[in-house]
Amino acid sequence: MSENRRRVAIYPGSFDPITRGHEDIVRRALTFADQVIVAVAHTATQRKQGLFSVAERVEMIRETFADEPRVEVAEFTGLLVEFAKERDAHLIVRGLRAVSDFEYEFQMALMNHKLWEPIETVFLVPDVQYSFLSASLVREIAALGGDVGDFVAPAVRERLYRKTRS
Ligand code: ADP
Repeated sequence: MSENRRRVAIYPGSFDPITRGHEDIVRRALTFADQVIVAVAHTATQRKQGLFSVAERVEMIRETFADEPRVEVAEFTGLLVEFAKERDAHLIVRGLRAVSDFEYEFQMALMNHKLWEPIETVFLVPDVQYSFLSASLVREIAALGGDVGDFVAPAVRERLYRKTRS
């Protein structure tokens, strides 16, 4: 990679919905990347069933980073490396919480590198207060009527509240 190249990082995931843990990872990525593309994987690419539509997830991420012009929000279908090639991005950012994340992440990083050699995966560790946090846990707490105010942005909390009551 040339030294002067603009560093574009892709942060892929389901973001259903975006949490404070995801936000923490994006802000860390901005310390070494010129641009971070938060890429929401389309339903066909995802392993998990969703609560919010991809369009809703994209909107929530846009709202969250409205003050950060270096963050772009996109959606993608199919192979992540193909999307990375299209966007001329050579970095994939992923968050590592506990050991439980490691095996899957390790496998994905090796496979993506095999599929497209110039891609590098960078793993970032969130602040300890977010290291137990997952979107699925947030969805579950919200569905059971718990307060998720510490785990998501206020606008996301509002949407979760409306969604789980509809
Ligand atoms: P989740 O596992 O919460 O449903 P995603 O599937 O959207 O989230 O994950 C996208 C990426 O963000 C993955 O690399 C995942 O490990 C990371 N991530 C998710 N939550 C956190 C968190 N609280 N702290 C750090 N990284 C996280």
